[in-house]
Amino acid sequence: MKRIAVLISVLLTLIPILVLAESGIILDGRWLCSNIKGNVTENTPAELKDDFYLFINKEWILQAEIPAGETRTGSVEEVGRILKDQLIALLKDTSLTGHDAELVHKLYAMVSDWDYRDKLGVTPAMPLMEAVRTIDSLEDLTDYLYDRNNNNAFYPFSMTVAADLTDPNIYITTITPPTLLLQDSAEYSERTQAGDLYYTAYQQIGKYLLTRLGLGEEEAPKVLENAIAFDTLLAEHIKPRAVHYEADYLTSILNYYNAEELEALAGSFPILNMLNAYGLKIGRKFLVTEPDYISALSKIYTEENAVLMRDWLTLKTALSVAMYLDHETYKQIEGISNAIMGVTGETSEDDLALNTVSGLLIVPMDNLYVQAYCTEQQRQDILEIIENTRTFYRKMLESVDWLSSETRAKAIEKLDSIRIRAVYPDQLEDWSGLDFAGPEEGGSLLGAVKAVDQFLISRESDKVDTAVDMDKWDQLRMPTADVNAAYEPQDNSINILAGILNGEVYNDQMSIEQKMGGIGTIIGHEISHAFDTVGAQFDKDGAMANWWTDEDYAAFQGRAAKLAAWFDGFVPFEEANYSGQQVQTEAIADMGGMKCMLAIAAQLEDFDYDAFFRQNATLLRCQMLFSDLMTIVVQDVHPLRYLRVNATMSQFQEFIDCYHLKPGDGMYIAPENRVAVW
Ligand SMILES: [Zn+2]
Repeated sequence: MKRIAVLISVLLTLIPILVLAESGIILDGRWLCSNIKGNVTENTPAELKDDFYLFINKEWILQAEIPAGETRTGSVEEVGRILKDQLIALLKDTSLTGHDAELVHKLYAMVSDWDYRDKLGVTPAMPLMEAVRTIDSLEDLTDYLYDRNNNNAFYPFSMTVAADLTDPNIYITTITPPTLLLQDSAEYSERTQAGDLYYTAYQQIGKYLLTRLGLGEEEAPKVLENAIAFDTLLAEHIKPRAVHYEADYLTSILNYYNAEELEALAGSFPILNMLNAYGLKIGRKFLVTEPDYISALSKIYTEENAVLMRDWLTLKTALSVAMYLDHETYKQIEGISNAIMGVTGETSEDDLALNTVSGLLIVPMDNLYVQAYCTEQQRQDILEIIENTRTFYRKMLESVDWLSSETRAKAIEKLDSIRIRAVYPDQLEDWSGLDFAGPEEGGSLLGAVKAVDQFLISRESDKVDTAVDMDKWDQLRMPTADVNAAYEPQDNSINILAGILNGEVYNDQMSIEQKMGGIGTIIGHEISHAFDTVGAQFDKDGAMANWWTDEDYAAFQGRAAKLAAWFDGFVPFEEANYSGQQVQTEAIADMGGMKCMLAIAAQLEDFDYDAFFRQNATLLRCQMLFSDLMTIVVQDVHPLRYLRVNATMSQFQEFIDCYHLKPGDGMYIAPENRVAVW
């Protein structure tokens, strides 16, 4: 399932050029969106007192080059580069032994051998396409979807096996609406610039792919039209993305059904048979996030719409195989994507091979990475920083003046219960049950993809109705070799992954101020997620449950709403509809993490605040193509990076004092207008 997400992102996070933002204009009245490539020139004013982020990063921005085939560059991306080079070395290291290495090298051999792939051409995809194209009626459609050999797991709904939200000790199946082609149902009634971009990508890539896979010149556009038409039918019953950020969203999705009730809800849509055909065990209960949508499927899954759905499946099937075919197909799609996104240059062969291998063999790659690069010394360093951060977080919660002692005690109890996954797991996951034919046995890339899919589905199915082992590190969901750190509300854990511990984030040569401005703020940020607007709804054991007094919860929500309203006012580019509610949890976490580091700093003698703030602004430096930034504004829950620095730092008196800021300065915010929740 992760693979599909990766593919879609390969095809569709690549996108254009609609350069509307005018260089040098400060649209939000406070700070220029200096993350857009081309927005900053030699003449752009960059005073510390008005725009700290730009002041620190201007020199870097002026010389920053976005690498060939990429849409952005920055400190986080540099950490990503280090990680990729480490992983590429593993792909090429033939001295590695064991089942994980065998799988990785077998797949790498197929991915990187263009002669072999060209010889197979598009042939491996043809049976999949033919199976879809022979659908003529609802009966055909049903037969197709019931046949596990045919389907590629495209149903008009999505299913995941995860810990139950209200009882996190047990795995259940969650049923949600599917991911739409244009990503958000709101795009089908009122298309945004981002929607236009996705639409264009589907039209152009879809048209090329469908004809390459045997459809006629006139047939292909008709199939695309029908695919969008079917998606539009689905979209009518799916809640827009904005709803996901509303305060009562999580309580609205707690709809439980047993199998019989689920069947009744879906009416004539044979949902249980589909789950069976997919290979998922039917469990004791299901969580259905949008029951109205599942109930609407019986009106959509009709004889009348069978051809529309066939064409929707045709497009999805074509997109799912696109990256595993021959050189010509790959190059054509890359060219189209780059033109739409405004990307220059091509992805290197090594990066391309890595994307495919690590996208499919997430856990075997991760095991090789842990064995080659992770050290106990580094884990001890990080554990020490985490425990130190937790100690100061406790002091911070103790000093919050708007919490009652009752809620405060619960918050501290939750903090003390946070589970820590630091750097890498002790116990590596075993994928010895997976195998596929390599080039010598006449295998194909698509054969490997199918083997991985089946392996993952049965891995998920096995979990249904079983107990959750919260102490286990799930490397599929949380691979060590990822530039990431995360808080998981469902087991109240923070996860600091080895892949992020490089470059400006962390290295053992850094001063204490640099470490605190780098990895320190990240750890503080992750702990803060336990107390953001989502985390606050989960208790110390990871269950969705209210542990607040009514009065405290109302005060908390009032503070969070003030923060969201402030972020609503930012305009990173003309016509941008910046949503404070969308970035609320991450902005709360940024400010909480910063506050915690400043609490630690206050205890240290001769702490160099300037070095600390500089490091944090450097950590978040970034240049992006406008196309990339525009899609982030509608999809990413993180504030844009210039805001993660300027909006965060300007909340704190230590920052104001360090640089002697005064009313009227762009970086000065009066105490009564500050919005930090914690
Ligand atoms: Zn976060």
